[in-house]
Amino acid sequence: MAIEPADYFRPDLLELAAYPVQDATGLIKLDAMENPYAWPDELVGGWLQSLRSARPNRYPDPEARKLKAALRSAFGIPDASGLLLGNGSDELIQILLLPLVGTDAVVMAPEPTFVMYRQVARWLNLRYVGVPLRSDDFGLDLPELREAITRECPRILFLAYPNNPTGNLYDRVAMAELIESAPGLVVVDEAYGPFAGDSFLDDLSRHPNLLVMRTLSKMGFAGLRLGFLCGAPEWLRQFDKLRLPYNINVLTQLTVIHALSRRDLLDTQIDAILAERARLARHLAALPGVVVYASQANFLLLRLMERKADAVYAQLQEQGVLVKNLSAQGGALAGCLRVTVGTPEENDRFLSSFCSCL
Ligand SMILES: *Cc1c(COP(=O)(O)O)cnc(C)c1O
Repeated sequence: MAIEPADYFRPDLLELAAYPVQDATGLIKLDAMENPYAWPDELVGGWLQSLRSARPNRYPDPEARKLKAALRSAFGIPDASGLLLGNGSDELIQILLLPLVGTDAVVMAPEPTFVMYRQVARWLNLRYVGVPLRSDDFGLDLPELREAITRECPRILFLAYPNNPTGNLYDRVAMAELIESAPGLVVVDEAYGPFAGDSFLDDLSRHPNLLVMRTLSKMGFAGLRLGFLCGAPEWLRQFDKLRLPYNINVLTQLTVIHALSRRDLLDTQIDAILAERARLARHLAALPGVVVYASQANFLLLRLMERKADAVYAQLQEQGVLVKNLSAQGGALAGCLRVTVGTPEENDRFLSSFCSCL
């Protein structure tokens, strides 16, 4: 008899649901924190020119040396820090957790947060412990975290800064205390760094157990898949051995090097997103029955009163606007929707549809 999936996969993996990605065909896509702007013509011309030198018949530079140099200068990565690249920061999360396979190590994160920490831990059969954020403002619950850290002794703690899906920056002093007192590694995930006023990159030299993870996805390169991890070189050297040798492809390497040479054009887009974030928040906050949480990211978390979230989500979709419905996750996110900041036109469409749904 031939082997069947049930003979191959652990029972918990057989039961796992695949990561859901909503079909967005024909919809205004405000569900996934993408940059809504296409590249300006100025950038596209030089880009196509640079692609002429691409050699898709050859493997990419396994160390991506030119790309790393461009990232170091564009993001002000300290010279003393190591740099590890991932095919999206999702891949870096996987690399971070791989060494723990087969151990009883605990992976910890305050929740609600980015779901991939839990998801990858689950694939690898690791123990994951989520510690609730404060329910009123989604800030770190320090007494709860101190206790959970003492009890579980997490080998790794993920802190998304700003957090997804809540959009807030945690208190910096609380973060520093956690990094100081944590018995394991602390990964500060700065996926939304370009939209936030703060970063832990400059804190790396003070904390040997601190790693800072970033991605280019949310600032306009979601389709290229590039994330990076900064921290002590002796840590990154070990993680680097678990990276697939050619994980950053030829086109991504060339494209990002070119785009970062015109950081000014990217910053113009980011400034436009920040201005729209403020405008969108102002309009939404004026609506009755809607709570808008303060955001340092390129999205807003909304809470709708009277259990309206599911109905509003469905009606928005009927009207051609796709947002993220977090309400189904329940708990602290009951009644919540998450909307990515789009172009002014997209945001206007969203606002008028949203008002008509309420
Ligand atoms: C989107 C996101 C990521 C993953 O980004 P990649 O596209 O895999 O680079 C990581 N962390 C957080 C908090 C995110 O929101």
